[in-house]
Amino acid sequence: MQNIININNINKTLKNASKSSIDSILSKALNFKELKPDEIAVLLNIEDKKNLKKIYATAKKIKEIIFGKRIVLFAPLYVSNECINDCLYCGFRRSNKSASRITLPLSKIVEQAKILEHTGYKRILLVASENPKKVTISYLASAVKEIYKNTSIHIVHLNSAPFNIDGFKKLHNSGLGVYQLFQETYHPETYFYMHPGETEKDYYLRITAMDRAIKGGIKDVGIGALFGLYDYKFETMALIFHSRHLEKKFGSSAHTISVPRLRPAENTPVQKTKYNLSDEEFKKVVAVLRIAVPAAGIVISTRESAKLRNTIITLGASQISAGSRTSPCGYSSETGKRWLEQFSIDDNRPLDKVIQDMIHHGVIPSLCTTCYRIGRTGKTFTLKAYEGQIKNFCLPNALLTLKEYSLDNASLQTAKICDKMINKYIKNIKKYKLPDNLNLKIEQIINGKRDIYY
Ligand code: SF4
Repeated sequence: MQNIININNINKTLKNASKSSIDSILSKALNFKELKPDEIAVLLNIEDKKNLKKIYATAKKIKEIIFGKRIVLFAPLYVSNECINDCLYCGFRRSNKSASRITLPLSKIVEQAKILEHTGYKRILLVASENPKKVTISYLASAVKEIYKNTSIHIVHLNSAPFNIDGFKKLHNSGLGVYQLFQETYHPETYFYMHPGETEKDYYLRITAMDRAIKGGIKDVGIGALFGLYDYKFETMALIFHSRHLEKKFGSSAHTISVPRLRPAENTPVQKTKYNLSDEEFKKVVAVLRIAVPAAGIVISTRESAKLRNTIITLGASQISAGSRTSPCGYSSETGKRWLEQFSIDDNRPLDKVIQDMIHHGVIPSLCTTCYRIGRTGKTFTLKAYEGQIKNFCLPNALLTLKEYSLDNASLQTAKICDKMINKYIKNIKKYKLPDNLNLKIEQIINGKRDIYY
């Protein structure tokens, strides 16, 4: 374990955080100089409102320097809830007998993907429970390929159990975008308690999965922790150390860092713990991650309320899911069965409403998928992000995809709001440093062309 993150160091660092001034740490971060662990600990230990505000303002600035004002949207697609594990906090745990279980056949996966496609999504995240007999590598690779073949979804990501290098090679060859796996908790004792029957070997196989995924050819990997299982400061620091390990070894930081918070799930023994964090603490986690790992996408799920998500999208988050369902067949209502959900969600707004609210908060909703498809991935992506170049693609691409959404999927009201935002940017093309030919490309979309990008 010690070759990925040093657990003892995290605890010591948090306890003995330096006395460096908060202002000097934040200005160092704004100059994209790597913060030392004890400087990160200073930020994590802040509790007073005045200094929290400074952290939030810095996170917002860094996010906008790297990615601009866009936030990327995606939806999860659960392919299986048949799980062999018994994790104490998860609705899919094998001892939960309260609802139906299924591993979707490929035709059903495509059906669900088509529903998402017609709603307007261009990127989806397949989510699979752990079941080596049913959720095999070839099943997942076929699911990815079938979605590309039968829908206009441009990129498919995956959140699944870890595999060996050969397995990851097969997934990479299927055209997979980001491979995502959460450690859930980096604290070994808590890990073994929450995952009955799992051993040190399982912990190790999980924490080293990203190393194998990258060796298998997958350039973009997503890490995460389930906040609320253990101390949030510890988990935040561990995520940062994990990402730095990847950056040192492979040249690119974690492509995404997800910060799900523990939510009640049906028939689970752990619904709440003494480590549940407040909204303010959660906002601090997001902001500190943004400051410490500037090039990573920080992902906020629908586990959080609409109100909190509307705030967090201006504090450093760069990707959000929307309109999510957390059970297989979740996007079709006519199945007649109640399929087991992984956890309950708090933000039930459909994509259309989320887009309206984002625009209202001055954020540009983006359905862009360009980087994955043209090789701006891995090390290349991280370097361009640090150079401040990524936002030059993100902003025009967000507007192009928003125009497609406005024409193809939006309600009348949302279409008007989208068009107003697009026109504002087009009219001020110089001020926003947008490409001169953006207007021409918007015209091409109006005339029926699709999938145009920079
Ligand atoms: S340009 Fe790249 S980083 Fe920006 S939104 Fe598109 S895919 Fe993401």
